[in-house]
Amino acid sequence: MIRANDPGLKSWVPVPENSDFPIQNLPLGVIKVNDEHHVATRIGDYVLDLAVLNRSGLLGVDFVQRVFESEYINDCIALGKGMMRDLRNKISRLLDTNHSELASDEDLRNRCLLPVKSVEICMPVKVGNYTDFYSSKEHATNVGTMFRDPENALLPNWKHIPIGYHGRASSIVLSGVSVKRPKGQLKGKDDPAPVFGPTKQLDFELEMAFVTCKSNPLGSTININEAEEYIFGMVIFNDWSARDIQSWEYVPLGPFLAKNFASSISAWVVSLDALKPFRVDGPVQDPTPLPYLKFTGSHNYDIQLEVYLDSPMFIPQRIVHSNHKYLYWNMCQQLTHHASNGCNIEVGDMYASGTISGPIKDSFGSMLELTWRGSDPIKMPDGSERKFIEDRDTIIMRAFAQNNDVRIGFGEVTTQILPAD
Ligand code: CA
Repeated sequence: MIRANDPGLKSWVPVPENSDFPIQNLPLGVIKVNDEHHVATRIGDYVLDLAVLNRSGLLGVDFVQRVFESEYINDCIALGKGMMRDLRNKISRLLDTNHSELASDEDLRNRCLLPVKSVEICMPVKVGNYTDFYSSKEHATNVGTMFRDPENALLPNWKHIPIGYHGRASSIVLSGVSVKRPKGQLKGKDDPAPVFGPTKQLDFELEMAFVTCKSNPLGSTININEAEEYIFGMVIFNDWSARDIQSWEYVPLGPFLAKNFASSISAWVVSLDALKPFRVDGPVQDPTPLPYLKFTGSHNYDIQLEVYLDSPMFIPQRIVHSNHKYLYWNMCQQLTHHASNGCNIEVGDMYASGTISGPIKDSFGSMLELTWRGSDPIKMPDGSERKFIEDRDTIIMRAFAQNNDVRIGFGEVTTQILPAD
């Protein structure tokens, strides 16, 4: 077992009950203090500044200071999964009630352990490349039924290929950043010609994304048994979508401007190491995938996913309860497939899962599915209805894994929608 995963560990830092960030989590993120960006971890309602901590010498001699005095975690995670496991174990030890090196050093403690509310939380990753998969069978079936043909909802390639497309890295934004309603070409089925205007069908997509910490040279591939060495951890990912723009533009090359105006992520990258106690088997894959996609072990995760809709008119309403374990294609298969033609994976790439829908209506991960393209609106407490997302609405996504011993969470992604110009 990884030492930092020991469910018996307790920290001298107070951790509220049901916090997403107990001592067993220790995700990586970036904070801004005194105009400087530092890599940090989170425990309870505090952040631990790793640049200040490393300068003190308490992390030992293994880590060069510059990886922590950085605007992003990229250089830090590029040290590799082994070093990141070592770092997490060392931080865990310093925060453990049974160890006093940091706890008893009041001056250092006051400089590196800061209330989360007192610092600016920043974008954790410099995203080089972003790919979005389409790995939930339930979601692909729902969309295929609505957009194409209920009889052949799942296209013939779907159970053979982890389908995906190249998205846009530059418009990935942090939780808390508002998103302006995009404009685009809209054409209803019976309209003679398209018009240009604000989307009337703005939607969220409930996804998780993984961040890579290792690269492969262009022209080489990644063996599925080694794929996990490339995956540092995960964030919550809201892949904003404009359904009316999408349905007019997506043939023949797939998603474009309906998807690339914004995607929102959570601030703390939770390591696959910390999520290890929550590994579960995924759905049975039938037909058997081609040999390069055959894996051993369990690579799905029992992570509960929630979406809340908040508005100035009512308190947040939970509208989705799904789970990461529903994904048909797992992350190792996605990454191996991505590099199977020799495409080079880079450190800091982001690979989103695709909307994660479950088998029942309450687990559908988009408004498109929840309201069946607007035909069955959701009723809100103030008497209003939602077919899609309205101006001033706020979408909050949460994700956490929980068993009897420990809760490893991701915090949240909160995004308010502002009117189009
Ligand atoms: Ca998506």
